Order: sequence, then structure tokens, then C-alpha cells
Amino acid sequence: MNSEVTELRRAFPIFAAVPPPFHYLDNAATAQICHSAAEALHAFETRGRANVKRGVYRLADAATAAFEEARTAVAAYLGTDDPSEIAFTSGTTMGLNLAAHVLSPRLGPGRAILVSELEHHSNIVPWQMAAERTGAELRVAPVDEEGRLLVDRLEALLDERVAVVAIAHVSNVTGILVDVARVGAAARAVGALLVVDGAQRVPHGPFDVRALGCDLYAFSGHKMFAATGAGAIWIRRELAEELPPFLGGGEMIARVSFAGTTYARPPHRFEAGTPAIGPVLALGAAARWLLTLNWQTVRRREEALTARLLDGLAALPAIRILGPRDIRDRFGIVAFEVAGLHAHDVCQLLDGFGVCTRGGHHCAQPLMDRFGTVASVRASLAPYNDEADVDALLTGLEVISRKFR
Ligand code: PLP
Repeated sequence: MNSEVTELRRAFPIFAAVPPPFHYLDNAATAQICHSAAEALHAFETRGRANVKRGVYRLADAATAAFEEARTAVAAYLGTDDPSEIAFTSGTTMGLNLAAHVLSPRLGPGRAILVSELEHHSNIVPWQMAAERTGAELRVAPVDEEGRLLVDRLEALLDERVAVVAIAHVSNVTGILVDVARVGAAARAVGALLVVDGAQRVPHGPFDVRALGCDLYAFSGHKMFAATGAGAIWIRRELAEELPPFLGGGEMIARVSFAGTTYARPPHRFEAGTPAIGPVLALGAAARWLLTLNWQTVRRREEALTARLLDGLAALPAIRILGPRDIRDRFGIVAFEVAGLHAHDVCQLLDGFGVCTRGGHHCAQPLMDRFGTVASVRASLAPYNDEADVDALLTGLEVISRKFR
């Protein structure tokens, strides 16, 4: 095994716990938790547990300080030095629902929301619900036969009626990177706000969220090597000040009375109730750990592994890759079908080779429709994957397609 990968695996408790063969290729669903994140979670629950933002004793003060340090770490990972732009959520789904609610006052009859055909259901359904609630129209930008967003077609759908554009940064089916900066510029030109689903981009290294030209950016901690239960949404500072709250309750208020309630300033306005404190601390720890990696090397390795996976799949006669065959503008997520076999059966059979993959519609049924299928197998890479993982998948597929088709 590559010595860098060996070193990386030491940072993940799972690799010491699960006996080989263990080839974890379901990272787009949930990546493994890194040591520092697991330790932050455990330390909070066993040695530092107190509620945040309210207690005045030392234990509670320390919990609040750690919570705010996590916010600073997550902000730094997104290239911003303004932690107040980060509101903690339970994950991408909640972040996108939050976006759909707080932007609803800008919607209504005569206004439109623009999404794309490659979206995860989390970036479709909340907007359909918002359209139903407000009377706004929902428009859909198409993709080509490889699943790449047709940005020209998206631009043609933009006019001054469009109030919100909601788009994924990276597809969870094809790994395709969307040119968010171009979409952002086109959205701004018609006065629309841009909401980005960053679930599949965030685990692949730090970037400058402001440079993307978006307004809100949602993601999940469990896909970026932290715990389940916490994620965050970045909201551009100037916009956040103008937005109404999402959920009502404790900690999101300035003053409550029956005559009327005033709200706290961002980000607390968007954080009603007791947050998932341990998972938030884990998210901060994961962000700090991710910032220590050499991303040039990690990206180069991911590209080489993606190419190996694509070439290997293309060489197997029974396989149809959904999406591009090349690595241009894509991350290490590859979906494919095995002729004559259901995706769930393939995944179960691959498990016999110690290979963990995802089978199904990947919560992207409109994109599956575009590819003319209902289900596929998906392999997705993380920095701790190596050639042996990809080769185990390819060997397993070769045996399965020979034996069972
Ligand atoms: N958006 C994309 C692109 C995803 O891949 C996922 C999860 O697979 C989600 C949103 C939803 O994330 P979560 O279930 O963590 O809220």
C-alpha cells in the first residue's frame, strides 16, 4: 500500500476495527469518521457535556467556546474568516430546507425557482414544496447524455422572474463538477439568488466559497469525515442579516413577548433549540484535520484512481457507465450498471468480496430517468482509498458478471 494512504488510514479508527478484506467505496453516502472528529465527539459526551449558549458555569462556558471554535474551523475550511456566516444544521437536507423556507418571501405567483436535472432529491423536493406553498413556478435546466449540466440551456431559462437558482456543486451520481461560478454570474445578472448543494464537493478539499459567487452553500458533516447529525449552511453575511428565521424556539430570539418577538442576529437566528453539540464539535475537528492534508497530492491520487476505475469498468463487457468516461471536471464518483443484474444484487454480491458500494437510484430519480434506468451501482472514493480497493471492485465485478449473468 502507498505509504501516504497507510498514514491516512491511521487517522481512521474503522480500518483498525474491520478485518480485511475491507474496501470501503460508499463514501458519497457516508465517509468514515476521522480520529480527531471521533475523539471530539467522545470527549464532549464523556468529559465536557453541557448545553451551549446559555450556561454560565465553567463546563457550559467551555462547551460554548468549543462550539464557536468549531464554527471558526468550518468557516476557515470554506475560506472565510467570518464565522457568523456559518449556521449549523443537521446536514445538507436541513440546510436546503432552511434555504427554501427563508427565501420563500421572495417567491410567489409570477416568480420562479430554477433547479437542474442532476440534483439530489434534497435539492428538488424542498423547492417543489416551496413552489406549491407560494405559487412560484419550478423550472428545470437539462443535462446532456453524459449527465453534464447544459449551462447554455440553464442561462436561457433565466429571466427576471427567477428569484432562486438551486444547483449542486458536484453530482452525487456522476461526480461531475458544475461550473457554479458561471451559473452564479448568470443568476446575479437577473437578480436571482444562488443556493448550492455542496454535499459532494466539500469532502474533496478546501475552497473559497465567496469566489463561487453563490449566496447560500449547504453541506453535511458525515460526508466530510465527521459524525452523523450535524452539517452547516454558509450564508453570505449581507444576505443573512435580511433573512427571516427558519425554525422558531430557544436561542434564536432577541426578545420574546406576546406583543411580538424579535430575532437574534445570524447565525443564531438560524439555530433554534439545542444543536447536535457533539457532532458539531466533530465537524470542527474534521475541518481542522482536512486543512492539514496536502490537497494537491490527494487530488492527484483521486484522479489517478478515478481513471483506473473508469478504464477498468470500460474494459468489462457487461458494464455500462452512467456519465462521462473521462476525468475532466469530475470527482471520484462513478455509477454504472451490470447488464442483466439488478444493482442491489450486484452490491450484495460485491459485499462477498469485501467491497462496499451503493445500489439504487441514489436519490436522483430525474437523473436516472435521463439515463433511462431505475437503479445503478455507485463507487465513490475518499483519500484513504487506493488501487487495491479499485482492483477488488473490478475483480468482483468480473467474477459476478461471468458467474451470474
Ligand atoms: N445532496 C447531495 C448531492 C447528496 O449526495 C446528499 C446525500 O447523499 C444530500 C444532498 C443529502 O445529504 P444528507 O442526507 O446528509 O442531508
